[in-house]
Amino acid sequence: MEGMAIRLQNLRKTFGRTEAVAGVELEIADGEFFSMLGPSGSGKTTVLRMIAGFEAPTSGTVELAGSDVTRLAPFERDVHTVFQDYALFPHMTVEQNVAYSLKVRKVPKPERLKQAREALASVRLADFGTRRPSQLSGGQRQRVALARALVGRPKVLLLDEPLGALDLKLREQMQVELKAIQREVGITFVFVTHDQEEALTMSDRIAVFNQGRIEQVGTPAQIYERPATPFVAGFVGTSNLLTDDAAEQVVGDRATYSIRPEKIRVLKESALADEPRHSRATGTVAEVVYLGDATRFLVDLDAGGRLTALQQNLETSSEDVAAFRGSRVTLEWHQRHNFRVPGTR
Ligand code: ATP
Repeated sequence: MEGMAIRLQNLRKTFGRTEAVAGVELEIADGEFFSMLGPSGSGKTTVLRMIAGFEAPTSGTVELAGSDVTRLAPFERDVHTVFQDYALFPHMTVEQNVAYSLKVRKVPKPERLKQAREALASVRLADFGTRRPSQLSGGQRQRVALARALVGRPKVLLLDEPLGALDLKLREQMQVELKAIQREVGITFVFVTHDQEEALTMSDRIAVFNQGRIEQVGTPAQIYERPATPFVAGFVGTSNLLTDDAAEQVVGDRATYSIRPEKIRVLKESALADEPRHSRATGTVAEVVYLGDATRFLVDLDAGGRLTALQQNLETSSEDVAAFRGSRVTLEWHQRHNFRVPGTR
């Protein structure tokens, strides 16, 4: 199929009695930044390894650019994998590290250097070619690993939690960079992560994995605002569900509703109900967490269950926040933020 980088059909993998991948169907377009998101053990890495060719499927097929590669060895596939523990050769310079695979493939030296320098420029390390890996920061080393993967111009780059070893600040910085680099080079990226924020920040589309299956494929906004299953609603974003009696009392329908915490306002219990088309629920603040720019309220509802509300700290200080613990409040949000989770009653 034209424009299709990867196509997985009825892909399965069992290890002994463990069904690691239980029938995955997926199409990833050319040039997409595609993330596979899910908890530990949900099968994402195994799917990635089957795309790379490190693992043979128990059944099903892997197509790359329209050709069936299921039986091909890794080196016969036009893909490159970047792992979390990107081992750079310590005795080589950055440039030699990046050019190494070209050397193995007997590319002449001037061409090798040219391509290595281009790859280093694309990860914004043009001036670091003569350094050794030990003279770089963690984020810079990660970018060298990326340059090394980009140098052969693979059609598809597979990334298995490549930012996992970085601290939070660097990680957030690299998320923005990685997305920019991908946009520039136009290579299809398939990115494995268990970090929902990372997936939401960088991806064109996301597949949410659970127990060897894909629960939903969609854009970050679709996944976040229109979760297709209770699992997705719980795993992506803060799990904020109204069920049973609480759903009946607050929404007027006995089903499962997902409400995003940032849509909920925290008011004094006595606040008047003067906003039309709003849902309201009273409760007691069980916990308050001061986050600097915002405050998270965990509220036990009188109707049953617990909701989390996230408020920007416009006027509030950390001292004010502590005083909320144990107090009575009214939660209020517009009815359009009541999202009925499909597949529930
Ligand atoms: P993580 O984020 O922890 O890497 P994951 O979603 O990538 O998790 P997989 O690594 O794909 O999950 O593992 C899926 C299941 O398959 C797990 O139950 C795992 O224990 C099992 N598994 C993976 N590789 C093997 C193997 N080589 N032998 C036996 N079981 C395996």
